[in-house]
Amino acid sequence: MQPPSPTRPIFLGDDRTGRIQIGGGLPLDHPLSKGLTQATIPAPVSVQTMTAGYTHDIDKCVAEIHKLTAAGADIVRVAVPEKKDTEALPEILAQTTVPIVADVHFHFKRALESIEAGVHKIRLNPGNITDRKQVEEVIDACKEKNIPIRVGVNEGSIIERKDKQSRAKELGAIFSENKHGYMLAIMIAKLEEYLDIFYERDFYDIAISAKSMDATLVIDAYTEISKRFPHPLHLGVTHAGPKETGCIRSVVALGTLLANGIGDTIRISYANDPIYEVEDGLELLYTLGKRERKGAELIACPTCGRIQVDLFTLVQEVNDKLNEDITVPMKVAVMGCVVNGPGEAEGADIAVFAGDRKGIIYVQGEKVATIPESDILDRLLAECKDFQSKVLSGEAKLGEKKVDIVPPDPEGELGSGWEKMASQRMGHTELTINKS
Ligand code: SF4
Repeated sequence: MQPPSPTRPIFLGDDRTGRIQIGGGLPLDHPLSKGLTQATIPAPVSVQTMTAGYTHDIDKCVAEIHKLTAAGADIVRVAVPEKKDTEALPEILAQTTVPIVADVHFHFKRALESIEAGVHKIRLNPGNITDRKQVEEVIDACKEKNIPIRVGVNEGSIIERKDKQSRAKELGAIFSENKHGYMLAIMIAKLEEYLDIFYERDFYDIAISAKSMDATLVIDAYTEISKRFPHPLHLGVTHAGPKETGCIRSVVALGTLLANGIGDTIRISYANDPIYEVEDGLELLYTLGKRERKGAELIACPTCGRIQVDLFTLVQEVNDKLNEDITVPMKVAVMGCVVNGPGEAEGADIAVFAGDRKGIIYVQGEKVATIPESDILDRLLAECKDFQSKVLSGEAKLGEKKVDIVPPDPEGELGSGWEKMASQRMGHTELTINKS
C-alpha cells in the first residue's frame, strides 16, 4: 500500500452540512498551494454518489439524498439539465445535510444558477461548453463564492490550442508503448488546456476526473494524471454496467489506484439504485484500510458439503440485522462447521459455528451458548448488542480475544463433523470414527 499522493486540497460544505476536505498534503511552498495558509494532510478518501431521480421533483430528490446520506454518502451530486432543476436547489439545500454538487453539462447558465443557489461544488466538463468566455464566467462565479470545481476529461474540446497537434504528437511519443497511448495523450493534452484556463483566472480549487468504461484505461489515465497534476482525483469507472459486473470493473480499477496512493474521492457507478454505489464504495475503502469502518464486519464461510444448517439465509439475516443495530466495528463470524471455522474466525469478536441444526456461540473466544438453529440469529444478535454496550461503556475492547477458541467436538456438542457427513455420503448409518 502506498501513502496518498499529495494534492492541493479542496473544501466543500458549510456550517449546516459540515465541511469536507478532499485531498491534501501539498507543501505550502508548492506553486499550486497559492492562497492556502495552512498545511494539510491528505483527508480520508470520501464516497460520492448521484441521485437517480429528477432534481426538480423536490420531495423525491430530498428523500433520495436523505437515503444516500444515511447509507454513508459523504457527498451527493444532482443533475441540473433544466432551469426548473436549478430552481429547486435552494429548497433541496435547505432540507439536506450533506454537501451537494451540481452536475452541469452544456449549459453554463445552469452552473451560474447552481452557484447562486448555494451548491457546494460544481462538476463541469469544459469539453461540452464551447465558449471559453462562458467557462470563465463560471470559474469567476465559483471563485467569488469559494466553491471548488471538478474538471472532467471527456471527449470534445473547448479550445483549440495553437500548438495542439504538436503537443498531442509529443505526448503520443511519450505513451507510444502503452496500449492506451493515443487516449492518454489526448486526455493529458486536454487537461493541460482546461487547467490553463483555470490557472489564468487564478483559480486552483480543482478536482480532476478522467473516467472511462475501460478499467485498464482508468488505471493508466489516473496514474499518469497523478504524476502531472497535484489536484485531488475523483475516481470512477463510468457506465460500469449492472452491479454484478460493474462492481468487478470498479473494484479492480479503483482498488488498484487507491492501493497505489492515487485517488481522493470515489464514485462507483451502477445501472442500479445508487445506494449500492455508496455501500460498495465504503466497503472498498474499509477493505483497503482507507477509512475507519463504521458498523460490524461480517466474516462468513462459503459453505461446502459439510454444512448442516441453512447458512446462506442465516448470513443474509445476520448481515441485515448488523447493519440495523451495530455501530461499532466489531468482527462477527458465521461459520458453517468446526473444520476450518475456528481458524477462519480467528480474531472475530463474536463467532458462531454451526453443526447439525445447532450452533455454538463464542464471544471473544469464550463459549457462551449452544443453541438450536432456529435461535441462532436472535441469540447471536443479542450477544452482538450486549458486546456493543460493553465496548461503548469501556468494559470490553474490540479485537481483544480473551482465550483461544477451542473447536467444539464435531461429533458430540455440534452433532456433526466431517467424519459423520463423509460416512453418511457413503451410505453408512453408523459412524466409525478413528479418534487417534
Ligand atoms: S467452515 Fe465448514 S462448512 Fe464452511 S466452508 Fe469451511 S469447511 Fe465448509
